[in-house]
Amino acid sequence: MDKKTVIFLDRDGTINRKAGPHSYVTKWEDFKLLPGVAEAIRLCNEREWPVAVITNQRCVARGLSTLSEIEALHERVNLELKKTGAHIDAFFICPHAVGECTCRKPEAGLFYKAEEWLKSLGISVDKDRSYMIGDAASDMAAGKKYGIRTVYLNETVPEEKITDADLICKDLHEAVRSIIDKGERNGL
Ligand SMILES: [Mg+2]
Ligand SMILES: [Zn+2]
Repeated sequence: MDKKTVIFLDRDGTINRKAGPHSYVTKWEDFKLLPGVAEAIRLCNEREWPVAVITNQRCVARGLSTLSEIEALHERVNLELKKTGAHIDAFFICPHAVGECTCRKPEAGLFYKAEEWLKSLGISVDKDRSYMIGDAASDMAAGKKYGIRTVYLNETVPEEKITDADLICKDLHEAVRSIIDKGERNGL
């Protein structure tokens, strides 16, 4: 087993602009990649850190979209990232409604799914050096439940207390840079 830093990413609000309240991003036309995201993912790819998206998509349970529609969207996202020489290694989706499963964040089920997938590639997650990066308290809680470090993304220091965040950054690019700098300081 090759022990690696794995970067787990939330999707909406972390890699793409969030939809308005009570709406969902299910189509490429509505998917707006945030600035610096492709570059940040490329930095991870260059270091051979697997990048896995961990996303709640209740729109499927609500009948507003289908799993295959979401998967097609994610394929399109990777086509776009390819232009920058970046790629997301895998997407893990919770399509369920609230309280119906053990994979909807803040539960950690999708991380275990990701772990299984990595294992099949001969990779084990270096939990001391892996991160969950997201823009919601549930991302932080899920990352902590799984046992890794967390980065909370926010333009400003949040008013609500995010107790599960190890680091607060303004966007994904800053988060990845901080993780890289931290590793370099520790001689990794
Ligand atoms: Mg989010
Ligand atoms: Zn689920």
